[in-house]
Amino acid sequence: MASPNLSMLAHSPTARLIVDTTALVANWRTFVVASGAAETGAAIKADGYGLGARDVMTALASAGCREIFVAHWAEVAALGPLPAGVRVAVLHGVAPAEIPAALTLPARPVLATAAQVAAWKPTGRPCDVMVDTGMNRLGLSPAEALSGLLDGLDLDTLHSHLACTETPTHPLNAAQLASFTALSARITAPRYALANSGGVCLGPDYLFGLTRPGIGLYGGGEGPGGVALVPVASISAPILQVRDVPAGASVGYAATFTARRPTRVAVAALGYADGYPRGASGRGHGSIGGITCPLIGRVSMDLVTFDVTDAPDCAEGDWIEVDFHLASIAAASGRTEYELLTGLGARYARMYR
Ligand SMILES: *Cc1c(COP(=O)(O)O)cnc(C)c1O
Repeated sequence: MASPNLSMLAHSPTARLIVDTTALVANWRTFVVASGAAETGAAIKADGYGLGARDVMTALASAGCREIFVAHWAEVAALGPLPAGVRVAVLHGVAPAEIPAALTLPARPVLATAAQVAAWKPTGRPCDVMVDTGMNRLGLSPAEALSGLLDGLDLDTLHSHLACTETPTHPLNAAQLASFTALSARITAPRYALANSGGVCLGPDYLFGLTRPGIGLYGGGEGPGGVALVPVASISAPILQVRDVPAGASVGYAATFTARRPTRVAVAALGYADGYPRGASGRGHGSIGGITCPLIGRVSMDLVTFDVTDAPDCAEGDWIEVDFHLASIAAASGRTEYELLTGLGARYARMYR
């Protein structure tokens, strides 16, 4: 008897996460234009913000992206062979115990503490350095960076990271820029980098030699210079059952939805275990053949219910396009666009087009 084989389940009704790589590349090009003379990299940590790091890298590399950022060394290993010319930097730097593995992987650390610098220096290998200019998160203090600690490192890029780009007028933006500009005059590096997606939007002073956009590539947040970013991720869920519910009956956990009219309900295979937020209960929507179908009742772990009364042809086995417009789902669910993307679960069939 044949052993159970996952490939035999390839056509199982499981939700699809559709990644529009044309949109991804279009967004990257928007950041290339806004980055001017600076090189434009891409943050693909957290599995490419939930969309699949390797496929995101492949699409961006074929568009010309050469500088990739991840958080962990395990994320480097998961990328597999790198496309020609692509370089990877690891934002968490390197722990002493990781150095043997790091030396076998095609990436350089972004060293963030004095201990990391001391541990990496004897390898003689290239590295980046992160300096903290006021966020008080990861990085050397400016005093440490100026202390001579970096002497003898094969320094590729000196980085800092902005805390408040979502509020362009926040005074910390200008303060961090001033601090990093002063450091760049005193620490010689082939290249300097300060801007994430929001930093690129702050204007030319923030660009230096390299930019590190993340969320914007995936269609989140504001586009630089008011250019609209294109949605990249969409969700399609298979309908497992269609049922007719009489007026006055309720649907789902805690009976939060009560039908006011005879209602046709589609039960679809998608839930909060897939990262579709429970906070979208009673607020999200789907569409079938262009007809909007409100999400009704609670989002369960593995199931969600839609009012398909206005799409009467909808049947078991059909698919419903589930709205995943980041800004509106974020507003409805109280989660950020970053959380929505990175929370996309492991059960999807991820499809790239
Ligand atoms: C995550 C990250 C980025 C990308 O930030 P976005 O806001 O997603 O553009 C850039 N730089 C560093 C250091 C990061 O940690």
